[in-house]
Amino acid sequence: MMKDRIGKHKLKPDLYYSALWNIDFEELAKRGVENLIIDVDSTIAHNDSWEIDDRARKAILGILAGGKIKNACLVSNIATGQKREQRVAKMAAELSIPYVAARLFHLKPNPKPFLLGLKCMNAQPENTAVIGDQIFTDIIGGNRLGMVTILVKPLGKVHWSTIFTFKRYREKKILQKFGMELAD
Ligand SMILES: [Mg+2]
Repeated sequence: MMKDRIGKHKLKPDLYYSALWNIDFEELAKRGVENLIIDVDSTIAHNDSWEIDDRARKAILGILAGGKIKNACLVSNIATGQKREQRVAKMAAELSIPYVAARLFHLKPNPKPFLLGLKCMNAQPENTAVIGDQIFTDIIGGNRLGMVTILVKPLGKVHWSTIFTFKRYREKKILQKFGMELAD
């Protein structure tokens, strides 16, 4: 299995929460996290919705207003097409934060969208956390670059693409293997 130079397993999230709004951001700030790379689908919004979940919106706006977390950036796998990007752009505008639309051949866990996210925030991997609902995109990508990785339970319905690849089943097995329990 893949391990990086400090021995952290690439598939293992640092923290596992039931939802973005339950994350202890005070604690994250104490760890030196100043910037957040936030996934969109099933993390802050349902896959088929153009609306940000109210609890996620409140949490993000609240932590940014609090000042301990300085920046946030949405990083979403878009693949192809304009509609999906318009949706993410709308959400980013509502939160007054930048976004990165990862395109085909550079989809997460490819480092490119994460590096663009860091650049948007003038951030370093060392002071940045990735928040997302998928081990195989958000967590691997963040771990590879040495960021703090936070897995959250997916919002709403499971997306068809994850059913066909048995991703959710594999994620469950991985979390069991690591003995990861929900922090909240
Ligand atoms: Mg997602």
